[in-house]
Amino acid sequence: MKKILRITAAAALLLMAVSCGRQDAPKAKYVFYFIGDGMGSTHVAAAEAYLAQERGVIGMDPLCFTQFPVMGEATSFSANSIITDSSAAGTALSTGEKTKNGMLCIAPDSTTLLKSIAYKIHEAGYSVGVTSTTPINHATPAAFFGHNIKRGNYYEIGKEIPSTGFEFFAGGGLYHPKGKDKDQPVSLYDMIAEGGYTLAYGYEDFKAKKEADRIVLVQAEDSEEICPYALGRPEGALTLPQIVEAAISVLERNPKGFFMMAEGGLIDWTAHSQDLAGTIFEILDFDQAIAVANAFYERHPKETLIVVTADHETGGIALGRKGYNFDLTVIDKIKNASASTDVEQYMNDPKSIDSVNEEARIGWTTTSHCGGPVPVWAKGVGSELFAARQDNTDIPKKICAAMGVQF
Ligand SMILES: [Zn+2]
Repeated sequence: MKKILRITAAAALLLMAVSCGRQDAPKAKYVFYFIGDGMGSTHVAAAEAYLAQERGVIGMDPLCFTQFPVMGEATSFSANSIITDSSAAGTALSTGEKTKNGMLCIAPDSTTLLKSIAYKIHEAGYSVGVTSTTPINHATPAAFFGHNIKRGNYYEIGKEIPSTGFEFFAGGGLYHPKGKDKDQPVSLYDMIAEGGYTLAYGYEDFKAKKEADRIVLVQAEDSEEICPYALGRPEGALTLPQIVEAAISVLERNPKGFFMMAEGGLIDWTAHSQDLAGTIFEILDFDQAIAVANAFYERHPKETLIVVTADHETGGIALGRKGYNFDLTVIDKIKNASASTDVEQYMNDPKSIDSVNEEARIGWTTTSHCGGPVPVWAKGVGSELFAARQDNTDIPKKICAAMGVQF
């Protein structure tokens, strides 16, 4: 009897230890959620092959994020198509729920509002940042704060920004700041300023205003534009690495921690154009932004989680197009010309884009999106959760689990 009691007591102690262990498991205090819009595995491989070729070898030089210790993949289909668009995929990645293409954080029943984890994490006391190289009210960033049956209702979506209370937003600007027909009495910029946000126009202006409580950073005064493409980008233009730096400096003031979504939005735009050089340089730029987060990770390795994924794949890019020849030296030619007008000519001319693909022996299957799974990379606290074949709706749930935030 005594022995049984002793065993029972030991088992109870063990159970307590396990459950305490679970409660005390390290939580991610600082979370970076990077979304490469349209970035499939082959887009990334093209960038890596370019880096290897640049130093004269055949191979793939790893990027910062492709060296992360954890990798998985995520299915990306929407509620009404194997091929998702960015608003349905953004909804899945932000709310953990599928919806129909074109809809933003509204369920397929067209009425039920879906809640982004950005709100849940903010309510739990963390600071929140929503950032992109696209306008802030474009599909992917909008999926972290907005709700609309049509992703193109930019004005209505932008109106939701001030009431979020999130500490930081950044992007190229805002689409339709005075409405689609430019007939709204109050511009989104004025609404945001009246809502208690400090507007910063470009990185230098941000540095002068960075002590403000809540900041919206855009590239130039009242811009409706995307940030400039990485290829041929003018000196002084706002970049995603700068945006991530800026976001960290605002968000890390909160002793509780932060959550930041950062979108490499223009990978998708260049891939829609089947623009190989543009796509490669957008991915390298996205990697630079992730390197900023990685440097933060090095300072807080026990408290930081970085997740990198895509919303879908764009263009159906393939490393190969009849036979075994493959040569990316043409990309260098375009890069070297990037200070002149040649790049602009190349980017705006489908014929030049085609001839680059032909010369490099790159194939593309579509000017739209594809329906295959997308890669997921992770590093840091809770990263092991992402080492799986998962659905895109699982990712926000896992982020909340890693943070100890109720999903
Ligand atoms: Zn797209």
